[in-house]
Amino acid sequence: TETVRLSGVSFGYADGPDVLRDVNLILPAGSFHFLTGPSGAGKSTLLKLLTLARRPTAGALALFGEAAGEAPRAALPVFRRRMGVVFQDFRLLDHLSAFDNVALPLRLAGVRRESWAEDVEEMLDWVGLGERMNDRPPTLSGGEKQRLAIARAVVTRPELILADEPTGSVDAAMGERLLKLFQSLNRLGTTVLIASHDEALAAASGATALRLEGGRLLGGGT
Ligand code: ADP
Ligand code: ADP
Repeated sequence: TETVRLSGVSFGYADGPDVLRDVNLILPAGSFHFLTGPSGAGKSTLLKLLTLARRPTAGALALFGEAAGEAPRAALPVFRRRMGVVFQDFRLLDHLSAFDNVALPLRLAGVRRESWAEDVEEMLDWVGLGERMNDRPPTLSGGEKQRLAIARAVVTRPELILADEPTGSVDAAMGERLLKLFQSLNRLGTTVLIASHDEALAAASGATALRLEGGRLLGGGT
């Protein structure tokens, strides 16, 4: 089965030119891909289509085997619940502790605290924030915020992980550690797509490399 399928997808912002052009892409369930390309190539835009923050202006988008590109607004949360997203700007809630930021998606899913409190702590330990559990995001460094955003994205064990430059604010050693986290989630069956301009990390990952240039996908899943 396929977690993601884009067929002839194009997209342009408002009255602007197309920034994605005729993109064909298949991410089989359980696959691991890096999406690379220079700044402005369209990586973030492609992720916005996959998180359903934007809709294709042409072509078809399917997620988890279901048509998603033209799904009604009310259906979007159903798709989104199945994905974990690491936003480039983190989107943490500043008034909540690190623990509560990571716990939030579990609370929203209605899971009882007894069944996840330990998972949340384990995840915070994994990203090296075990000691910062009670601190709020404004007191964290850029790299710590990034790691917190990653912990929150993966704690629900989503079927699809989409991450926009998830190692952009950490040093090389932490980048490799975070890569290992994504790799171990992938080994458990999660489909992973990481957008990054870090070609070295992409090469080290062993993941299939997809490359966007000027809105066109080179070396895709088709
Ligand atoms: P990347 O993530 O590869 O750096 P982006 O997807 O951010 O690329 O950008 C692709 C193109 O779309 C760029 O030309 C960028 O300036 C443009 N763009 C991105 N976001 C917007 C927006 N909200 N409105 C208009 N143009 C945008
Ligand atoms: P959103 O998806 O909510 O529009 P973006 O990250 O695309 O978020 O953009 C945030 C803001 O910055 C928006 O007001 C957007 O129009 C603007 N913006 C981002 N990139 C560009 C760009 N390359 N050209 C013009 N405006 C942009």
